Amino acid sequence: MKRLLILGAGTAGTMAANRMRRLLDDDEWKITIVDQHEAHYYQPGFLFIPFGMYSKNDVIKPRRDFIPAGVELVMSAIDVIDPGQRRVRLSDGRSLPYDFLIIATGAQTHPEQTPGMVDGAWRKTIFDFYTIEGALALARQLRTWQGGRMVVNVVENPIKCPVAPLEFLMLADWYFHEQGLRDRVELIFATPLPGAFTRPIASRHLGDILEEKNVRIVPEFLIERVDPDGRRIVGYDEQEIEYDLLVTVPLNMGDEMVKRSGLGDELNFIPVDKHTLVSPTHPEIFALGDAAALPTSKAGSVAHYAVESFSENFLRYIDGLELLPTFDGHANCFIESGFGKGLLIDFNYDVEPLPGRFPLPGVGPFTLLQESEANHWGKMMFRWMYWNILLKGQELPLPARMTMAGKWSG
Ligand SMILES: Cc1cc2nc3c(=O)[nH]c(=O)nc-3n(C[C@H](O)[C@H](O)[C@H](O)COP(=O)(O)OP(=O)(O)OC[C@H]3O[C@@H](n4cnc5c(N)ncnc54)[C@H](O)[C@@H]3O)c2cc1C
Repeated sequence: MKRLLILGAGTAGTMAANRMRRLLDDDEWKITIVDQHEAHYYQPGFLFIPFGMYSKNDVIKPRRDFIPAGVELVMSAIDVIDPGQRRVRLSDGRSLPYDFLIIATGAQTHPEQTPGMVDGAWRKTIFDFYTIEGALALARQLRTWQGGRMVVNVVENPIKCPVAPLEFLMLADWYFHEQGLRDRVELIFATPLPGAFTRPIASRHLGDILEEKNVRIVPEFLIERVDPDGRRIVGYDEQEIEYDLLVTVPLNMGDEMVKRSGLGDELNFIPVDKHTLVSPTHPEIFALGDAAALPTSKAGSVAHYAVESFSENFLRYIDGLELLPTFDGHANCFIESGFGKGLLIDFNYDVEPLPGRFPLPGVGPFTLLQESEANHWGKMMFRWMYWNILLKGQELPLPARMTMAGKWSG
């Protein structure tokens, strides 16, 4: 038996396990997947928890329910990969050999990496919504908050779902309107980027929408530390922003295990070929999902397209053929903008998000880079799609590669 070992049973690992179990012969391939936690969270749902739109029950399911028959699920923390011996050592002492390895251990937030962030005011006046605990604590805080200056700060890029902080601000604008508090709340977005988003056209569109909603952007703000007693964040250039409530998107990093294994960059993300997802130093190791150091968004949609292109390619590879450079960095993301509306962006390594219609040219029903109710419903449907189609590794009637059809590039 040949052994395919998958590390991490989150979005990418679970999709890969389902897809590969269907594609690889049971008699020839043993597939094993490892994770440390029993619960699988639908992370895009964390965005809605602070505003009372979702509860914990809406975003959690047992991880085991999504691992197909014929794939062995091992529950343990992963200690280290030994690429020389082609073995993975688990924290419980077990050791798992592999012929091919997929690393899908994702990205985690590290508030402790910013001085002052977790020194006493954590989850009192400083909150996050990138973890279930943070989102629930912020929901509790917002239920009784009487207004003031709310600052949303991205510590450094890359982060998971780079539009999530913008969505948070737009939903905050809507939520405080609903609460009758909007005139008592000042919303500020302090970002290390020169504008609202990583790519220029989308940055302009999204920046305009934020301005209309009276959200002030402080660009190129590189946080050096938090002064929790003085309630201010301080940049490397000594610029200071005062807050009453700080919502941080802390530094995102790959798992420590990647560092211990000597496979990561300075943020513990794994360098791989951006079109084939194979490690340049270890031809039997691939990285999928947020764990990979790729010049595209860290998003579930990217993980989905990457798994699709990887799985076709892998079948060629094990037959002795070369990997084809098929992955184009395709990403698409619904952006909730409040008041029952949303936007959609669709892009890849080479083409930035453009206006237009998706998926059917001229028809939609979704509008690219433009607010519509259809996009809001697309976002709300995404949770059902995630549990019922995407995680199970089923194909969508959409090509894995981005297409220009329906986009206005003029
Ligand atoms: C607030 C928020 C909003 C988002 N919104 C969107 C959105 O609208 N659209 C979108 O496409 N994406 C969105 N995302 C991003 C999306 O959730 C992630 O990109 C996606 O989950 C990445 O999948 P992954 O498999 O790479 O990582 P994960 O799903 O995080 O899985 C990694 C797994 O590895 C396991 N693991 C890690 N290290 C170890 C170890 N040492 N031992 C054992 N197990 C380990 C973890 O337990 C985890 O289960 C959002 C994310 C957040 C936080």
